[in-house]
Amino acid sequence: MKKRIFITGAAGFIGSNLIRSLLQDDRNIVIGFDNFDAFYSRTEKEKNISEFANDKNFRFYEGDIRNQADLDALDDIDVIVHLAAKAGVRPSIKNPILYQEVNVGGTQNLLEFARRRGIIQFVFASSSSVYGINEHVPWSEEDKLMPISPYASTKLSCEMLGHVYSYIYGIRFLALRFFTVYGPGQRPDLAVHKFFKSIINGQPIPVFGDGSTSRDYTYVGDTVKGIEAAISYESSNFEIINLGNHRTVTLSQLILAIEESCGRKATIDRLPEQPGDVPQTYADIHKAQKLLKYHPSTDLKTGLDNFYSWYLKTQDN
Ligand code: NAD
Repeated sequence: MKKRIFITGAAGFIGSNLIRSLLQDDRNIVIGFDNFDAFYSRTEKEKNISEFANDKNFRFYEGDIRNQADLDALDDIDVIVHLAAKAGVRPSIKNPILYQEVNVGGTQNLLEFARRRGIIQFVFASSSSVYGINEHVPWSEEDKLMPISPYASTKLSCEMLGHVYSYIYGIRFLALRFFTVYGPGQRPDLAVHKFFKSIINGQPIPVFGDGSTSRDYTYVGDTVKGIEAAISYESSNFEIINLGNHRTVTLSQLILAIEESCGRKATIDRLPEQPGDVPQTYADIHKAQKLLKYHPSTDLKTGLDNFYSWYLKTQDN
């Protein structure tokens, strides 16, 4: 029996990596959905999914998660993996209402769609940003949430919406808190992509703060394995699970590692810290290990080298 997996945000960074992996298994049918949001170029997103165009197990719908009619046009679905969102912390401060409408309104629309269609498995892309300025690391799922950006608060609202639909309608809702995901196909606004691009083009890289902020960088291949495990998870009806790497890297260390990967020196343009940016992220991943058999295994050097190869192959510098 084939599993029909519906992926919102399919043309994006994590979505396209997930699709590549799911299509390795002939028992999966992947139904991709995306509105090619203008946050970054449509061309990049079309490139991300072009390799699946001729796969007999892949279908694609262009549509908006806020639009019920776009969802009603879809074929039968067994599982929803909801990755579509207005992403990015800093832009959410400039446009908080739009973030609320797309991320929270869109998620509720999808939950309503799931309820009407009787779809009982819903995997949601949450974010480490919900922990915000909680200083006690590593963060476990039980820890205090102190979000400091509109983006983070939308993710938290969606987790709570998921609880409501899980409780009232029995929809299994799994909120996966991703921690700074990087790798081939990464969004152009994120540090790894931005830094490689600037260094390769001989331009200064913008560094916010003194370089001591740290992130739990997680390779996209590891994140994808966690999502795939959540797609098949059936042991309980509502869970929030960190999908991090449990290893932190400072911004200065990241720049050194990128310099090493591409064999060039960076010129640094030092700028003040940005509102909404948290000083650190660091995941406790015991729960993911236990429930999803999640064991991230890609070290930073390998992950950055994979990004660099992808960049050289696909990007016009
Ligand atoms: P991405 O921007 O590459 O992908 C998101 C996709 O959603 C885009 O292709 C976009 O066009 C689509 N989209 C946006 N609004 C839509 C709408 N109204 N209707 C339909 N599609 C819409 O981002 P990503 O990095 O792949 O992130 C995927 C998910 O993971 C997002 O929910 C993001 O918030 C979350 N997340 C990502 C990271 C990370 O480090 N990349 C970390 C934490 C959480």
